[in-house]
Amino acid sequence: MLWQGRRESENIEDTRGSGGGRRVAVGGGIGGVILVVAYLLLGGDPQALLDSTQPQSQVSANRQVDSNAPRDEATRFIAVVLADTEDAWHSVFRQMGRQYEEPKLVLFSDQTRSGCGFASAASGPFYCPGDRRLYIDLAFYRTLRDRFGAPGDFAQAYVIAHEVGHHVQNLLGISDKVQAARGRVSEAEYNQLSVRLELQADFFAGVWAHHADRVKQVVEAGDIDEAMRAASAVGDDNLQRRSAGYVVPDSFTHGSSAQRVRWFRKGYETGDLRQGDTFAARDL
Ligand SMILES: [Zn+2]
Repeated sequence: MLWQGRRESENIEDTRGSGGGRRVAVGGGIGGVILVVAYLLLGGDPQALLDSTQPQSQVSANRQVDSNAPRDEATRFIAVVLADTEDAWHSVFRQMGRQYEEPKLVLFSDQTRSGCGFASAASGPFYCPGDRRLYIDLAFYRTLRDRFGAPGDFAQAYVIAHEVGHHVQNLLGISDKVQAARGRVSEAEYNQLSVRLELQADFFAGVWAHHADRVKQVVEAGDIDEAMRAASAVGDDNLQRRSAGYVVPDSFTHGSSAQRVRWFRKGYETGDLRQGDTFAARDL
């Protein structure tokens, strides 16, 4: 992916090094950690997995951000990708006659407090609708490379674009509708809605790739394959096979590898939001 020398987003909050020391134990062994990582990567409700004992009022008060600190290469890369998503979504929202509101991206190491509760490195990347922030511990990219076999900068960019996709769903009121259905529908039906929400975030990630490539020609040969590998590596079926040794279709909440790849590709090829209504689609 061609990214050097391009605009970096101002919306990065680097909280690494300001941390407070306490490590959070995550149960379930390595399989459990992988599932938690994947769950959040795929945008599961962080509230369900994070320790939310921190009162909301303390959440942002303790965050220390040094916005003047020099950026290392990994951070500059993240900032360029975030800037790409800003440009892409400003353009898409303008076409809809709306104003895109940019999310913040919080870099943390080991642990952080979010508007959705306490997060540890094992939480993996996630989006918190409550404070409109993306959270990522860069150590996750090592996991993506070593444990999920999905290396490459475009795979890393896809992860951010997917989380930004959840932010877009938040702005468009889509996540709220799904949340509102919780409790009104059966668990199986709610899981179905979650799958469609996740696949739409993949579609939105594809829309970002479409716009970034059209405007800036950033996609190199092999990049889309990298993103596909990341998308398919973190599909539910793959994860369940790795953790439990078999696949349990009824408990899928984020879509199969094939479904994720299909929706990302559709977003990338069309760049057209109207093609991304996963909730109306008969075949996922
Ligand atoms: Zn997600």
